[in-house]
Amino acid sequence: MSFWDSILLLDIFTGLRTTAKHLFRKADTVEYPEQARVPSDRFRGMFRLDEERCIKCTLCAIECPINIIFIDWHNEKNELGKNEKVLDRFDLDLKRCMFCGLCEDACPTNPKSIWLKTKTYELGTYERDDALYLDIRKLTKWDHNVKPFTIVEKGE
Ligand code: SF4
Ligand code: SF4
Repeated sequence: MSFWDSILLLDIFTGLRTTAKHLFRKADTVEYPEQARVPSDRFRGMFRLDEERCIKCTLCAIECPINIIFIDWHNEKNELGKNEKVLDRFDLDLKRCMFCGLCEDACPTNPKSIWLKTKTYELGTYERDDALYLDIRKLTKWDHNVKPFTIVEKGE
């Protein structure tokens, strides 16, 4: 900083210019939890599993770097007399998840049978061990856990 800059307090005026710029701008806040912003398309939130679509290949469990997906299945004869895989267990220990998305990437079905981009982040709970351990029921039907709120698009 030059001598004249310190005498004229130019730094303060630079700071005040930024303050003044924001002073008259519309507040960029929403009344959460009554309102909530729509997360971006890349946002990784709550998992969703489509049990019908899943081919029980276990690739998602194999690819998970911390082994928190547990899948068991058995064969059953379908109406055509062919063997069909039936899920016994599809558990995900969400409290250890680092949301890397490798499980979703590994899933070979199109569209994916497991995905994280559900844009849901309402996961607050007092029952960590129970509520953040997801079984098939929770992975396929968790809508009742999500509070209804007014979605606000960014910039509204
Ligand atoms: S997102 Fe979670 S469950 Fe999926 S691979 Fe990563 S750590 Fe495992
Ligand atoms: S990778 Fe996809 S299809 Fe295979 S078991 Fe996992 S969710 Fe099902």
